[in-house]
Amino acid sequence: MSKQVAFIGLGNMGAGMAANLVKAGFAVTAFDLVPAALAQAKKDGCNTAATAHEAVAGADFIVSMLPNGQIVENLYIHNDKLLAAIDKKALVIDCSTIAPENSRALISAAEAKGIAAIDAPVSGGVAAAAAGSLAFMCGGTEMACTAAKPVLQAMGANIFRAGDAGAGQVAKVCNNMLLAIHMSGTAEALQLGMDNGLDPKVLSDIMLKSSGCNWSLEKYNPVPGVMASVPSSNDYQGGFMVDLMLKDLGLAMAAALASKSSTPMGAAARNLYSLHKNSDGIDKGSMDFSSILQLFAK
Ligand code: NAD
Repeated sequence: MSKQVAFIGLGNMGAGMAANLVKAGFAVTAFDLVPAALAQAKKDGCNTAATAHEAVAGADFIVSMLPNGQIVENLYIHNDKLLAAIDKKALVIDCSTIAPENSRALISAAEAKGIAAIDAPVSGGVAAAAAGSLAFMCGGTEMACTAAKPVLQAMGANIFRAGDAGAGQVAKVCNNMLLAIHMSGTAEALQLGMDNGLDPKVLSDIMLKSSGCNWSLEKYNPVPGVMASVPSSNDYQGGFMVDLMLKDLGLAMAAALASKSSTPMGAAARNLYSLHKNSDGIDKGSMDFSSILQLFAK
């Protein structure tokens, strides 16, 4: 009999992830607060539940993909007390991007009830979620992370165990802080070149073969028209939203405060993204994060 997965949170990311679990042969019961999200999940082959409690009944795995840490803690521990309805043999896999302490609270509350749980935030956006090519960064015991693999492999291409509970979230904020830094730096350098008469395509080609080469330049050039099929060439639509980058940079700053780490570049990137979101009198939160170029453009 196929293994049963309860999937909670069928938004931009969760919808594609749940559909890929169905394709891989899992029996998926889906729950979201939004009826349209449930209707889409049904079309994708999921069973749907009227409540989160109904979704987790009899499930071998519970996967959640939710907006923030407060929602995750309220669902599992405080308001909805979902942990009380989960079978002891089940494994909870929370893929939401939340603070490491939210993940640790969830995992220790689950373990106190004899339920295994891990944090497994993802790298890769909506397209990777739909294509099943996400990278998962897991935190939890070796045993729980190994047990999660068949489920994660159905949704992703790369699966890492970063360490114990919360370690997946730490890896995720480190990665996204660096992403914000090299995207901001790449945009700044390209604008400097353009302001001094260079063609951004020529400058990009030079830096791609020089020591300034980085992922933003290689895969995600922020100057419209330099690279086809990236958000900058599509009015900065699609891709990874400024609001989500700001959320992740906020989590990085909170982690830095907690560990008393110096993160001056991360702090600068957070401020740049915050300035950008509110620049020109319009909310740019829903634009792709490569639109940071507009902050430097004359
Ligand atoms: P989203 O807002 O599109 O989806 C979240 C879904 O959760 C919504 O459908 C919402 O109705 C549902 N939800 C909220 N509270 C709920 C509850 N109590 N019970 C059931 N459902 C509930 O967000 P998203 O873009 O899918 O992102 C989800 C998570 O993935 C976030 O933590 C985000 O930071 C992370 N993430 C997003 C991206 C991206 O590119 N969108 C990339 C990597 C990681």
